[in-house]
Amino acid sequence: MALFKREYCPLCGKKLGMFGTVRIQDGIGVCMNCYSALDMDFSIAKFQSVMNLNERLVRMIENQKEFRSFSTTREVKVGGMYFREDCRMGRWYVSYEKNPQNPTLYRYDEIADFRLVEDGDTITSGGLGRAVVGGALFGGTGAIVGAVTGGKVSKKIINTLNVVITLKDTCRNSVTVSCLHMGQPCKSGSASYNLSMHNAQTLLDFLNAICARGASLNVQTPVTSPNTPRAVDEILKYKELLDKGIINEQQFEAKKKELLGM
Ligand SMILES: [Zn+2]
Repeated sequence: MALFKREYCPLCGKKLGMFGTVRIQDGIGVCMNCYSALDMDFSIAKFQSVMNLNERLVRMIENQKEFRSFSTTREVKVGGMYFREDCRMGRWYVSYEKNPQNPTLYRYDEIADFRLVEDGDTITSGGLGRAVVGGALFGGTGAIVGAVTGGKVSKKIINTLNVVITLKDTCRNSVTVSCLHMGQPCKSGSASYNLSMHNAQTLLDFLNAICARGASLNVQTPVTSPNTPRAVDEILKYKELLDKGIINEQQFEAKKKELLGM
């Protein structure tokens, strides 16, 4: 078996070993370092061309710059995954790692849809500009549990309780988060079940807030009403520029209107 062909990673040029090689389109091998840097799902990697991966790599380099100034303003941890948001930057990410190096930062409008799925049945779903239906979020955990059981006490065993998030990302179509308490199946209506539902609630709440912000981004809202005291200060500065002949009357009037939101 001397047919072992020497292979090189098309992204970094490193020689590929027997192990730790990820196969993409046409069976081309990519090294583990490059693959990790792409922050891409395994299931998707095999359909990617070298060009796609290069594009992704460019995004991740930009992402790294952005991530350096990311500062968490909200965090939830569900199913061993960290969901973090920086509301000032308007970005969020999800990672299994507590201190990820370069997780893909998403805009608020990059969630296509999210749903809570219990043993294959969708309990509730939400998305951009669409709050979780059934008022589940607003009534607390009890509301979800009540809605699910319809008041009846059933002792069904729940094997999976997942929140499935569909992303607008060609390299990561979806994220599945297990909400089961301690990752263990439980009986519906049990204490474990209620804790599991509480996990789900926490995540749905986070996602709902993200999507609500995403929706408000997509609405072409006019610039917020002018902050009058600040506007007056600014106008006085421009008046001074006008008086000194640095700007003309027309420019001054235009600036005044802008500042007063006229
Ligand atoms: Zn490589």
